[in-house]
Amino acid sequence: MSLLHEIRQTVADLHAELPRNDLVVWTAGNVSARVPGEDLLVIKPSGISYDEISAENMVVTDLDGNLVEGSHKPSSDTAAHAYVYKHMPHVNGVVHTHSTYATAWAARGEPIPCVLTMIADEFGGEIPVGPFALIGDDSIGRGIVETLQSHRSPAVLMRNHGVFTIGKSAKDAVKAAVMCEDVARTVHIARQIGVPIPIEQADIDSLYARYQNVYGQEPVA
Ligand SMILES: [Zn+2]
Repeated sequence: MSLLHEIRQTVADLHAELPRNDLVVWTAGNVSARVPGEDLLVIKPSGISYDEISAENMVVTDLDGNLVEGSHKPSSDTAAHAYVYKHMPHVNGVVHTHSTYATAWAARGEPIPCVLTMIADEFGGEIPVGPFALIGDDSIGRGIVETLQSHRSPAVLMRNHGVFTIGKSAKDAVKAAVMCEDVARTVHIARQIGVPIPIEQADIDSLYARYQNVYGQEPVA
């Protein structure tokens, strides 16, 4: 199996995680992956339902979002994904959702504060808010990159819109999207019954360092 086919299959399979984790409705949401060593990405086509997704109908574009391979139109969010790959060379996966709780924070333009050890672990601090941006040019991609470059978080809440996450792999970006929705929900509930307690910066730093450097490494044989 060629590398490109393998990536098409991975991206198709990862899309199943979005409805499975209640992150999307209808055709909203998408996962993409960088094709290593080439200025290409694999993404979901526009307007395809989650039941119809297959490795074969995933599309390949260049890092300007132009269609390179595929019989469908690329997702309308492709330009934003492409901009991220172009400007963040360590990123190999991008996910976009309008998951309910995280998007409710985005609607208020409010970052999710670091009030859970899980937020410190996965996001290294608050989950930041990115600027309001309209689809159609570079502005969504630019807003994502500028916000993420000044935070440890692999997730950004784009104001009045939804969530974009990044990862070393497409699977890591999906994980960040699932975690982002989960903590958005928990902190929302905490707010309804009281005032969440912030975690000290030194503790955030040590939780983040431990999780990123120790937890999840390959087991020693
Ligand atoms: Zn969107």
